[in-house]
Amino acid sequence: RGRAMLSVIVRAYGEGMRLVLSLDVTERERAEAMRRDFVANVSHEIRTPLTVLTGFIETMASLPLTEAERKRVLSLMDQQTQRMLSLVSDLLTLATLEGSPRPAPDRWVVLDALLQRVVTDARALSGGRHQITTAAATQVELAGVEAELLSAVANLATNAVRYTPEGGQIAIGWRPLADGGGEISVSDSGPGIAAEHIPRLTERFYRVDGSRSRETGGTGLGLSIVKHVVQRHGGELLIESEIGKGSVFRLHLPAVRVRQQNGEAELGLE
Ligand code: ADP
Repeated sequence: RGRAMLSVIVRAYGEGMRLVLSLDVTERERAEAMRRDFVANVSHEIRTPLTVLTGFIETMASLPLTEAERKRVLSLMDQQTQRMLSLVSDLLTLATLEGSPRPAPDRWVVLDALLQRVVTDARALSGGRHQITTAAATQVELAGVEAELLSAVANLATNAVRYTPEGGQIAIGWRPLADGGGEISVSDSGPGIAAEHIPRLTERFYRVDGSRSRETGGTGLGLSIVKHVVQRHGGELLIESEIGKGSVFRLHLPAVRVRQQNGEAELGLE
């Protein structure tokens, strides 16, 4: 009986091994497929502006252009170059985020200053086409890496400006959460995003409308950078949107403190 039992155990163990092995293989295959997709996407994103640039160079070399035409072609060439620069800079940001360890939450970022910078840049990008407001976050500080948090909130604000039609409203908000953390939100009165796209928005190069996103200067990497930053800070990115009404992107961040007037810091918020 003991022997029969043993053989059952050995068989079960063998099955388990096979299961573990096959899970491992599918996981590896999936990772490999994702890597191939990523390389294909990057190649495509770089080749497109290069092809356009080649066309412009040929035009300039072979056609006699007026001064106005020459200026126009140069400005279009500049657009393509900027597009490649943003792509390479977003790729580097992602690679750095993925390759470096989670930051120790021992640096405090002054939230008011961060929100002010985001709003100033968003207003400059909007050029008065939107109404952009922000909430006061006096004395509030967040634990984390300033450059990363700034890039996350700025990415959301840039998207809001780019995707919201002229005359729309954009609000950059802040509120304390009951668990001692806080929420930074960026809401817009833009076109909204259909529910089936929402879970995929943070995938690298995922775009709801590819041509529109490229026209507005998007690299397709913004939200994936935001998600990485928030996760590295122990937080969460939440997206709510309704077609025709607008979108709200919320960053939930765990470590928040309020600096008291006398300089003493109080952890958590009531
Ligand atoms: P992109 O560089 O294309 O903007 P993101 O990763 O920042 O890339 O965003 C992914 C996609 O999510 C965008 O292509 C766009 O379709 C959609 N999106 C992002 N923000 C908004 C927004 N505020 N309103 C509507 N659609 C948005």
